[in-house]
Amino acid sequence: MNSADAGALKTLLSTPKKIAIVPHKNPDGDAIGASLALYHFLKMKGHSPAVISPNDYPEFLKWMPGTETVMIFDKQAEEASEILKTAEVVFTLDFNDLTRVGQMEETLQQLQAPFVMIDHHQSPADYARIRYSDPRISSTCEMVFHTIDALGSKDDITPQIADCLYAGILTDTGSFKYASTSSLTHRVAAFLIDKGARSSEIHRMIFDTNTPGRLHLLGCALNNMVILPEYSTAYITLSQEELDRHQFKKGDTEGFVNYGLTLAGIRLAVIFIENKDEGIIKISLRSEGDFSVNEFARAYFNGGGHTNAAGGRSTQSMEETVSYFRSLLPKHQKELNK
Ligand code: 5GP
Ligand code: MN
Repeated sequence: MNSADAGALKTLLSTPKKIAIVPHKNPDGDAIGASLALYHFLKMKGHSPAVISPNDYPEFLKWMPGTETVMIFDKQAEEASEILKTAEVVFTLDFNDLTRVGQMEETLQQLQAPFVMIDHHQSPADYARIRYSDPRISSTCEMVFHTIDALGSKDDITPQIADCLYAGILTDTGSFKYASTSSLTHRVAAFLIDKGARSSEIHRMIFDTNTPGRLHLLGCALNNMVILPEYSTAYITLSQEELDRHQFKKGDTEGFVNYGLTLAGIRLAVIFIENKDEGIIKISLRSEGDFSVNEFARAYFNGGGHTNAAGGRSTQSMEETVSYFRSLLPKHQKELNK
């Protein structure tokens, strides 16, 4: 965080404030970890914060300290709207455009309170008074750490804050393996462990709490994988019927898309997941190297994200979506086979 933003934030937080903290829709470990870490930090500093998530999040994140205080907008719309309307500051975490909060967007658009964006996605929108945006940083949790540091408070980090931040860094770096993991990321993680983050326990709570249904669904997904060596591409489909058959719960498909990239020579991996309730196919894309799935998702699937991890959606059927996707590959063949 630069010193101008740090100064502006210090001024904004110089007196006790009512503060709303908002992660993106379908929040992941980074979004929830950053939100709860900031919640604990602001509370400790005498503010009255509340985390309001657009919708619910997976069970494997619900061990996080403070999870019981998170309000879910699509289940408690009235109460959550009231808190948003009376908030004096609104932090938006791990997203860069108000369209990323789904049905909460309208309420956020109407607020007069100043917004503070902390985010690491490319091409940030222009809604925030303080915009701390840096796509080079591994995770929003790492950025929340830098924010606390810029406020001169890193020594005040409690074990609860450390747990939440560590969890987000762990999940958004793929357990410290993605290219966005810098030596500074490791130094921040080490500092958090010194402050009480339970590194091994957190890894277990996030990654080793599978249900049989989820592992069988993974089996189904891997069975459905289509490999297109001529485009260095692998994709997976999961229909609503397949999800239902394996007692799908939110979060069960997290990480499935990455299996495509574990194949030698594969540089683009995609998963198409049918959601009959919303009438969409949710698409997750991952790449290795220079091929930008952010640009690909923006151009063709009404989405976005990072260079190597992005998402989008289609309102066509699964068959039409997959066939549209396949029709796009020839014009990207050169970049994919580089
Ligand atoms: P995932 O595939 O895990 O849902 O998301 C990967 C990355 O892409 C995340 O950084 C996420 O914020 C971003 N992303 C996922 N879905 C969308 C979408 O529909 N629109 C935009 N702009 N970004 C998305
Ligand atoms: Mn993130």
